[in-house]
Amino acid sequence: MKQQTALAQGTGSSVVVERCQTCDGARLESVLFLGYLPPVNTMPVTGKRPTEEASYPAEMLFCHNCTLAQLGLIVDPAILFPPEYPYSSGTTKILRENFKELYEESSKIVPLTSDDLIIDIGSNDGTLLSNFKNGGHKVQGIEPTLMGKKAIEAGIATEEAFFNIETATRVRSKVGKARIITATNVFAHIENIHDIMEGIITLLADDGVFISESHYLLGLIETLQYDTIYHEHLRYYSLSSISYLLNRHGLEVIHAKRIPTHGGSIRVYAARNGKHQVRDSVKELLNSENAANLGTKLLPEFKERVVLSKLKLNSLLLDLKLKKQRIFGVGAPSRASTLINYAGIDNGILDCVVEVKNSHKVGKNMPGTVIPVKEESCLFDEQPEYALLLSWHIKDELIQNLSAKGFKGKYIVPLPEPQIISNDGTSSSV
Ligand SMILES: [Zn+2]
Repeated sequence: MKQQTALAQGTGSSVVVERCQTCDGARLESVLFLGYLPPVNTMPVTGKRPTEEASYPAEMLFCHNCTLAQLGLIVDPAILFPPEYPYSSGTTKILRENFKELYEESSKIVPLTSDDLIIDIGSNDGTLLSNFKNGGHKVQGIEPTLMGKKAIEAGIATEEAFFNIETATRVRSKVGKARIITATNVFAHIENIHDIMEGIITLLADDGVFISESHYLLGLIETLQYDTIYHEHLRYYSLSSISYLLNRHGLEVIHAKRIPTHGGSIRVYAARNGKHQVRDSVKELLNSENAANLGTKLLPEFKERVVLSKLKLNSLLLDLKLKKQRIFGVGAPSRASTLINYAGIDNGILDCVVEVKNSHKVGKNMPGTVIPVKEESCLFDEQPEYALLLSWHIKDELIQNLSAKGFKGKYIVPLPEPQIISNDGTSSSV
């Protein structure tokens, strides 16, 4: 039976990717295999005897035709996003600042009047749109999860639905076409990207601009964020691969830039061909990507670096365990599941992982392991010698915060180079 799920609709089965999800090309090369990983939200209750758990291959493929990096298996969304899957708003300080900056930048690139409509796809709690609303513009969100209700309560008009052509047509008949459409961090998750694009075209005014933000493949590679590879992330974009996708739907990129969200993302402005001036930023970023030789140089090197980082992290952990040091993990974001499972970290290495007090993950085990997730207060009460930072991409903020709260031990930063940071801020690489 098909299940209505929170971020995407269930298809009833997983799909092996034989042809590129964007260009339908068959020249797909396997560039990285992280093993069989459990879905990141598979977290059994702590203390129960472990029973069977599903796991799925985490293989990255590279398309030599359109340069899209993508997973080799599309796991049934009903498995990845079960109805009970708990959602957090995800609207962190860095995201709020990013949305404000997006508003300011886009208002310069697309001069807006009070009649202009802005539509956000995957609008969450309405934070992005609130910037435009406060600026005096009409806004419309589209959001399938419960966060849509929160947005409505905050006064942001929101269509509570999955985004597809039907939803786009319905929204268009209600509120008309949009001068700006935004889609942040949704491009990687939804299975049929061409349906999404057709929906966007349906809603975009003739002189409108579509702005997307996606995790950036070249940033992922540079900072070795292999831990952001998991089944919910079906595609990993460069500007080249986004351009290819947009071109296929009659849009051209008019501006692009790198932004800091999610450990390194890319913001791309697109419009119907010939409707807006194309900025130099587009050529500059495309040139830098071409010079990097993604398929022939960067990705093969990435694989080597990923393997070495795992071995180095294991070596560092071996040294500490030989000295009978206690290590707690800090933070249980989705990416922690990939790191822990790929690096083979078990409950003999990490006593537990700590999470903030009201996290729904407390009282459960990390996916694929019997490492318990406990409340953060354990870290301060028990004072283990080491804390392994699983949200290492925000390590500076975390170290400052945990030290201020009273943690006296040292920090292990697992990536991109395993590193120990003392409480006084000095660091040593392995
Ligand atoms: Zn392709």
